[in-house]
Amino acid sequence: MIKAIYPGSFDPVTNGHLDIIKRASKFVDVLVVGILDNPNKHCLFTSEERKELIKIVTKDIPNVEVESFYGLLTDFAKEINASLIIRGIRDTNDFAVEFQRSITNKQLNSDIETVCLIADEKNLILSSTAVKEVAIFGGDIDWMVPKEITGYVKEKYNK
Ligand code: ADP
Repeated sequence: MIKAIYPGSFDPVTNGHLDIIKRASKFVDVLVVGILDNPNKHCLFTSEERKELIKIVTKDIPNVEVESFYGLLTDFAKEINASLIIRGIRDTNDFAVEFQRSITNKQLNSDIETVCLIADEKNLILSSTAVKEVAIFGGDIDWMVPKEITGYVKEKYNK
């Protein structure tokens, strides 16, 4: 059985993340979306909220699970018996980061492989940061996030 982890901040989940989730879930038996719960990083959504949002958008994909974690990714992957790490690559900047992370993670646990999926062309410029930059000034984010998520993001800035 192949279990994979797709780690990230997902603050909030975007169309780009969802595309990677859908594609990876087709070639693994179980895909765990791992939300990095870093108390030192300020996020718009709490880890519980980010978890709920991912659960909402993945409710129709039966082999996707959502978990929060804090600490070394390779430790968490081992804890849940995941043998693959899934990451998405939008450009050469992402590649440079993932290239180094992959080698570091291999050093930490040589049993775990990193698989990078190239972003779909319609999601190449999408990021959670861009979603927040547009939403804070009331711009249209419907094209950036799954339709179920739009209201939650707007609500954060209406408070
Ligand atoms: P992190 O802080 O770990 O980069 P993110 O939530 O920003 O967390 O991203 C999680 C993963 O999803 C990373 O591998 C990132 O490159 C990938 N990703 C982010 N946005 C997109 C997108 N638009 N298309 C494909 N992959 C993406």
